[in-house]
Amino acid sequence: MGSLGGAAQSKPHAVCLPYPAQGHITPMLNVAKLLHARGFDVTFVNTEYNQARLVRTRGAAAVAGVPGFRFATIPDGLPPSEDDDVTQDIPSLCKSTTETCLGPFRRLLAALNDPATGHPPVTCVVSDVVMGFSIDAAKELGLPYVQLWTASTISFLGYQHYRLLMTRGLAPLKDVEQLTNGFLDTPVEDVPGLRNMRFRDFPSFIRTTDPDEFMVHYVLKETGRSAGASAVIFNTFDELEGEAVAAMESLGLARKVYTLGPLPLLAREDPPTPRSSISLSLWKEQEECLRWLDGRDPGAVVYVNFGSITVMTNEQLVEFAWGLANSGRQFLWIIRRDLVKGDSAVLPPEFLAATADRGLMASWCPQQEVLNHPAVGAFLTHSGWNSTLETICGGVPVISWPFFADQQTNCRYQCSEWGVGMEIDSNVRRDAVASLITELMEGEQGKEMRRKAREWRDKAIEAAKPGGASQRNFDDLVRDVLLPKN
Ligand code: UDP
Repeated sequence: MGSLGGAAQSKPHAVCLPYPAQGHITPMLNVAKLLHARGFDVTFVNTEYNQARLVRTRGAAAVAGVPGFRFATIPDGLPPSEDDDVTQDIPSLCKSTTETCLGPFRRLLAALNDPATGHPPVTCVVSDVVMGFSIDAAKELGLPYVQLWTASTISFLGYQHYRLLMTRGLAPLKDVEQLTNGFLDTPVEDVPGLRNMRFRDFPSFIRTTDPDEFMVHYVLKETGRSAGASAVIFNTFDELEGEAVAAMESLGLARKVYTLGPLPLLAREDPPTPRSSISLSLWKEQEECLRWLDGRDPGAVVYVNFGSITVMTNEQLVEFAWGLANSGRQFLWIIRRDLVKGDSAVLPPEFLAATADRGLMASWCPQQEVLNHPAVGAFLTHSGWNSTLETICGGVPVISWPFFADQQTNCRYQCSEWGVGMEIDSNVRRDAVASLITELMEGEQGKEMRRKAREWRDKAIEAAKPGGASQRNFDDLVRDVLLPKN
């Protein structure tokens, strides 16, 4: 479908409001680009903290926008931090955005509607589910209000089924021993929309003895507000999560669901336009990773990256290091500056010497390109949802070490439903890392997972291609929900 014609005044204008973390900003940017390509004026809202960080990392051009696509900011409500180049504390950010952002967001909408700006007035709001305060501002102006859930659909259900776990007496935990005495493996039967779940496969926040745990109540409240949105977008495709998607509507958790995934494929532009060059990576990508991969054989490299939020102890880092060394494989390992809790990463000199000719370490890379590089044969990941979809798009099987939130649920499905992964125990040991890498790279199970991963890649391409299900859903969303009704 082509762009909408007409004068600037008659253009629809979407305000896109992501939660201010990398794994939320990237998929929202993809939705924003799709809308812009469809003729919408777009205002993309960053927090002041992230906008300043983008300018520092990538220069002012990063947030200069292109005609009809601009950036705006609101404060995140957190006090200024000493280090302004690190992942912000997630519970603090959740609390501050919920409590402080509605006023600034209201004022921003009012400012955007000032005819003096020369922009068309705002005609719809696309908000992250976990920026649910924005529903009030959109409703006050009578605007269509669509939410984007940037994690998996199975995890949305996982959060909403916390109540089921409570009514069945499984949560909150009775004591901390339940974390280690096998209780987490308790099967949880009859969970609408989900399959073969154990207690441990629900999003991690429920593993608490505290009935008032903030994150549990926060996600229940935020996901509970989605039923009031005009529609909810999921970054997924029906073949992958169809059962969970159907449950969203049948359980009344959303009025209408649109699956627009995988967004990286759906929003890819060929040929590229000026808009395609807008990137909101909060870290500077080290392109040399791609050049290093260019010199490696197909499927030879283990790619290791735990995303933008995961933290670990230095002891765990060292276990991963020796696991990689002992596997004998080539590897590309991304170690974020703040990956190790409270300190910088310290790797043994013997490890560095042993792997100097076959390992590359960097602090941030262009992950989507890495996962599409023919040299990458396996992905050691935390199973964040974007990483999960990006590895599906690359057809690369995984070894999963879930850290928190939805990652436990994603890992369960990667390993037991989609057949593309193997899990590493949270108490990571070098021998397990080495043997899982060996199995994935050369074992029979690994071969089967590679085959499955390629099958999923083909299904993802099918969903996102012109005329595919995700494309059609986008057309429907624009026509039925987002375009103003005359
Ligand atoms: N990412 C990247 N380069 C890196 C690490 C991560 O571009 O070195 C991107 C990755 O492609 C993904 C996002 O950061 O789009 C991480 O999101 P995900 O949901 O996987 O995990 P989170 O960071 O939210 O835990």
